[in-house]
Amino acid sequence: MKNDAPPADVQRVVAVIEEMGFQARPMPGRQRTTIGVVGNEGPVDASRLLGLPGVREVIPVTQPYKQVSREWKSESTVVRLAGGLAVGGDEVVVMAGPCSVESESQIIAAAQAVREAGATILRAGAFKPRSSPYSFQGLGKAGLKLLARAREESGLLIVTEAMDPESVNEVAEVADIIQIGARNMQNYSLLKKAGRVGKPVLLKRGMAATIQELLLSAEYILAEGNPDVILCERGIRGFDSATRNLFDVTAIPVVHATSHLPIIADPSHGTGHRDMVIPMARAAVAAGADGLLVEVHPTPDRALSDGAQSLYPEQFEKMMREIRHIADAIGRRIAEPAELGA
Ligand code: PEP
Ligand code: MN
Repeated sequence: MKNDAPPADVQRVVAVIEEMGFQARPMPGRQRTTIGVVGNEGPVDASRLLGLPGVREVIPVTQPYKQVSREWKSESTVVRLAGGLAVGGDEVVVMAGPCSVESESQIIAAAQAVREAGATILRAGAFKPRSSPYSFQGLGKAGLKLLARAREESGLLIVTEAMDPESVNEVAEVADIIQIGARNMQNYSLLKKAGRVGKPVLLKRGMAATIQELLLSAEYILAEGNPDVILCERGIRGFDSATRNLFDVTAIPVVHATSHLPIIADPSHGTGHRDMVIPMARAAVAAGADGLLVEVHPTPDRALSDGAQSLYPEQFEKMMREIRHIADAIGRRIAEPAELGA
């Protein structure tokens, strides 16, 4: 719509779109309102809309995904979380903690350590998707309870994984952000359920997924009515065994160019080795990542999962110091725990 289009013009366009048999999604922006059209199978007859008062232009979406595209919404999405924290704005949000919740003392110690170093969100899995059925599968519901305790004790927000549609509701009771893991990126019934739960979703890139497939998976969540999706680059399968995965730092500017959704980076699963995590965390912030997801364990040598890629608390502190300088150099800031609850 034109900058000065009055609400009556917007309503008229909405009514015409509905008359044409489609649904209209008005999105008021800082400068002007955009009205998205969904439900059309092919091209929409633009001439009918162009003749209406207040209409500035009709932009066909050329991507196979729609609502996640920049063509659909040119302003970047800012996912607002509890406590005043936001992902996708000026601040870079650091989510850190162990791969898995292992015990009360472990998760509380981890929460304290990452908060002291400056993280604002605690990560840890209660339900763990493991490549082997004989590996530690997580504490399940008991793990969720421990995460709720850690949230109370530390004031940190919680990101934790839901592995199947059945557990989404119980995970959502504790989680501030529901994580969908790489192995589940194309679990469409899980994506649909996450689209209806009313909590922000962290969607990790599948280990053999293209960026377009990642965006199509995000589209499932938005299509169910949940606009609060944060994407995550966590490395893809490469042919070189020097690293666990090939950390695709270019996914960050590619996503920013093609989608309005925020994207964070996981240099832990991206590399698989703790000594490579800090350099890749720095690279991700320099590339414009809206946040980081980093594994940190109070005693990595005793971790029940992903110990080799988990940072020692002192290393995490060093990482935080370094990325503050990098954020500053590109006109951003690292979100600090002091702002939580503000
Ligand atoms: C995790 O975050 O611990 C995890 C299982 O990650 P991914 O789904 O990226 O393998
Ligand atoms: Mn892990």
